[in-house]
Amino acid sequence: MSRLFRRAEEKKSLWQRIKEIAFTDVTVIMKGGLDEDALERLEETLLAADFGASATLRVVDRVEALYREGKIRDEADLKRVVLSEIAGIVAPPAGTNGLRLADRGELTVILIVGVNGVGKTTSIGKLANMLKRQGRSVLLAAGDTFRAGAIDQLQIWAERTGSGFVGARPGADPAAVAFDAVDAARNRGHDVVIVDTAGRLHTQSDLMAELQKVERVLARKVPGAPHETLLVLDATVGQNALSQARLFGEALSLSGLILAKLDSTAKGGVVVALRQELGLTVKLVGTGEGIGDIEPFDPQAFAEGVLAGE
Ligand code: GDP
Repeated sequence: MSRLFRRAEEKKSLWQRIKEIAFTDVTVIMKGGLDEDALERLEETLLAADFGASATLRVVDRVEALYREGKIRDEADLKRVVLSEIAGIVAPPAGTNGLRLADRGELTVILIVGVNGVGKTTSIGKLANMLKRQGRSVLLAAGDTFRAGAIDQLQIWAERTGSGFVGARPGADPAAVAFDAVDAARNRGHDVVIVDTAGRLHTQSDLMAELQKVERVLARKVPGAPHETLLVLDATVGQNALSQARLFGEALSLSGLILAKLDSTAKGGVVVALRQELGLTVKLVGTGEGIGDIEPFDPQAFAEGVLAGE
């Protein structure tokens, strides 16, 4: 009996819900195919999946147009259209795929921001490991001088990944830490500096002012720096990710996102809204707590994952 209940409560995937709108409702198939009512239900379904209004309309309009042209006749057609539209929305603009690194021999600076608990420290560790495996020599800078433990935690990741490390006293000025880290990297022959930052200060405006100062100092110190300013978001928080991205995006010139904890959610629709509404692309995804659990973002695979999720 309990098994029966669990089965009844099992959630349907996004694709199952979309498919049922179009193809299992007998009246829809008999009367007008994808009629107004079906398109409205498709719209509601995508909104509920965190796509946001603008991307939802884009997908629905595309489905409607192709249906009218006779190009959506069966489930496979519909799936192909929805998939390619989602993949098209989340894809990075041409030429901006992957991380922007300085030429070999030049110093690359990567600034990492995000609120506490999203997976920032872990993502920095994984990123350091990934770059090291690509033949880069990395140095981690402990720019989160506010949170007790953040400096030690980052040092552990530096040791685990064989990266250089520039620490700080709690309460030190993060911009000074970033400045020192660049000097240390140059002196010690590292070619990538990853700067950690605070995820919380006494007030939000203090935090944003502090991050802007770090950004400014780095820009003055190294040509083209920060080469990447990546906001780490927790994939499990849905719509909250959008408000975090808005907040950080207003203060800083974000170059992309790291989407942590993608392995812990069956939803990912907010990524569609992040791209469509804020122009932000995911560059890397976190797929677990281990050091190797980080992958480049793949729009096609991601679109398939969104349809397979709830
Ligand atoms: P921070 O406060 O933003 O620096 O967050 P941490 O890096 O300390 O991570 C918070 C928690 O999330 C830790 O328990 C991490 O192991 C976990 N975490 C980070 N990234 C991932 C991920 O991609 N997948 C999973 N499952 N857990 C993650």
